[in-house]
Amino acid sequence: MSRDWGSLFDVDTDPEDLLEHFDTEWFRGQRYRHLSDERHGIERGTAVVGDTVVRGYPSMPRALVLEPAIRKTFDGPVAIEEKLNGYNVRVARIDGDLLAFTRSGFVCPYTTRKVEALLDADAFFDDHPEQMLCGELVGPENPYTDHDYSEVEGVGFYVFGIRHRESGTPMGVERRLDQCATYGLDSVDHYGTYTPGAAVDAARERIDDLNARGREGVVLKSTDGETALKYTTSAIHRADLEHAFELPFDYGRDFVFTRVIREAFQAVERDASPESVSERAQELGEAILEPAVETIRAVDAGEPVGETHTVRGDPQVLDDLLSYFREQGLELHVERDDTDGDQGVVTFTKIAQSTRDKTRYYLEGGTLDE
Ligand code: ATP
Ligand code: MG
Repeated sequence: MSRDWGSLFDVDTDPEDLLEHFDTEWFRGQRYRHLSDERHGIERGTAVVGDTVVRGYPSMPRALVLEPAIRKTFDGPVAIEEKLNGYNVRVARIDGDLLAFTRSGFVCPYTTRKVEALLDADAFFDDHPEQMLCGELVGPENPYTDHDYSEVEGVGFYVFGIRHRESGTPMGVERRLDQCATYGLDSVDHYGTYTPGAAVDAARERIDDLNARGREGVVLKSTDGETALKYTTSAIHRADLEHAFELPFDYGRDFVFTRVIREAFQAVERDASPESVSERAQELGEAILEPAVETIRAVDAGEPVGETHTVRGDPQVLDDLLSYFREQGLELHVERDDTDGDQGVVTFTKIAQSTRDKTRYYLEGGTLDE
């Protein structure tokens, strides 16, 4: 490393102490480091490749009740954007190569290849070598979070932020949208910029529409891109709960509790009539019980349980992806391994070991001390 480690980050801390918290990984024969937990104000997911720093994408607060949260968070114009449900990817060009970093700062072999194929980002990085593109990788052919979007066939990448890779400073919202248009980069939908007062109704209207279409929610941002607030639909709370109860012993209790609480506050703010609360309650109950019942039946029938994903691409890259997951300690079950022209198509399940083992134990008469 040619630059002194301590000078990479402009923070007042012992460089050795900071370095200690980074994990070392390899990508295409090159060593890099990444930070799995926030430290000294340096975001989780920050990576260092050679002597290039790629800052993590910051965590953003969530509103449970829109109206007061918007009032408290913003004192100037508020941009409203769609919140897409996929996984967070930062793309940077380092020594001529595009690299795609996941939220926790790993360079993912599959994502890097997909982004190379999806993005025509040369012109952007020629003009802005110090910037990184922050976006959501969405679509059904997705090894992490697959959510169907009617406009996305395999996978798509939608930019929601452009930041200086080393300082993390965001570009303002208007300029970012402009840059996306100039360089032909897909952007998340932008619904307009409002005064904080007007943003409440605008966000509610968008939420109702997104909810009806089974989409995730909105992100509200100050126009300089520094302050952000997220708020999600009932549809996604239910989808999250279905997913969690499909693998009841692998998802933490916190995960479940937070979704139920989101629904409770949303009901208080939005459901004027007792009927709408009971409709919400009915749907919530179904989202919880039905998937759990199905999973218990599946384990009883000896079927693999876990998160199933399909990915498509260069067979070598798909092999690399599966090895990368196995190295991270995941047990995989491959259901399909085909080719489609010169592309591989692989369907695999990340086995949910706790759910499988505990469910089996109870089915065989295991008891609980409770
Ligand atoms: P946290 O914000 O605490 O890290 P998390 O990792 O669980 O939470 P989410 O609840 O999905 O993430 O919310 C934040 C994420 O939403 C961002 O990291 C980003 O990946 C995603 N996202 C989708 N659309 C947008 C958007 N328009 N603007 C910003 N982020 C977006
Ligand atoms: Mg998300």
